[in-house]
Amino acid sequence: MTPEERSAALGRIADEVRTCTACRLHRGRTRAVPGEGHPDTEVVFVGEGPGQNEDQQGRPFVGAAGGLLEELLGRIGWRRDEVFITNVVKCRPPGNRDPEPDEIAACSGFLRRQLEILDPAVIVTLGRFSLGTFMPGAKISSTHGTVRAVDPATGASSAVALAMYHPAAAFRQANLRDTLVADMANLPQVLLDARAARVAAGDAKDGVEDGATRPMEDGSTESQASAVATPHRPPDAGTDLAGSPGAPAPAALPGPVAETAVVGPGTPGASPDTGGPAVSEGPATDEPTVDRPPQSDPLPESVDLPEPARLPEPEEIEALTEIAAAAADAATPPGERDETDQMTLF
Ligand code: SF4
Repeated sequence: MTPEERSAALGRIADEVRTCTACRLHRGRTRAVPGEGHPDTEVVFVGEGPGQNEDQQGRPFVGAAGGLLEELLGRIGWRRDEVFITNVVKCRPPGNRDPEPDEIAACSGFLRRQLEILDPAVIVTLGRFSLGTFMPGAKISSTHGTVRAVDPATGASSAVALAMYHPAAAFRQANLRDTLVADMANLPQVLLDARAARVAAGDAKDGVEDGATRPMEDGSTESQASAVATPHRPPDAGTDLAGSPGAPAPAALPGPVAETAVVGPGTPGASPDTGGPAVSEGPATDEPTVDRPPQSDPLPESVDLPEPARLPEPEEIEALTEIAAAAADAATPPGERDETDQMTLF
């Protein structure tokens, strides 16, 4: 099947999805979300279901979680238009609740047919409902970052699944951000291995025999294949991040982040796909957060000075020295103070 034939076939499925009434989810949707991406990609991301932003725009992963997904892709040198992105269910569950088993079953035919057309080498599962489709019985906490052969009954005849958390999970549990970075960093090598296995088995997609190039919509053959050939892994700082031994340091992502601090390119202030709290752009540097004392200590309003007619006692000299030091400290610009013994790092 040529890329044009794939694109046309995917378009026909999308048209069916937009008018589908096979399950109760069609009643509450604004727009169905069939999925989108490059018709000749070998990597398909499968999430859970549309969130509020997706429901309004009819596109997958366009909220804050989508911004994080794009950022994670950027870390390995890929763009979202080089892969295909879709969900287990194509219509938004009310209130972003979990999709019901019968809803997943009703919608499974669309996903199966998309995978039959795309014939991916790698399916990246995002979240537990996608994981349950491609790795039945697996738990996301113990399976993320691992790879398993996909049952051809899913529509992917010769593929492996790479399990990952849903990006929105990082908004609820900040340390999962590092886990997502580490798991995504493995994707180029997973694709190389899967592609090599398909070539060895004679299952390579039409026109791709050595994994060297992949035509892009603009006519070029760069980026995806070249990124895979020379994976853009972040530098390994040898840091044990969030319980992921050996995980690469997040060189480009902001450093220590608060629970709701999220970076999503172009989506500051947007809500996560699954309806989580509104998020804001994270800090711009890796500076540790410090518990600083007040920047200026007020001088005492009045001081009992000793009688001028006599020499001061040693205790009085010590008190005067402390008062003079406090006054000097208050007059010193904040950036020039030695506060290292007053900081509380966390
Ligand atoms: S979720 Fe899937 S099966 Fe249900 S109405 Fe939407 S497209 Fe149809």
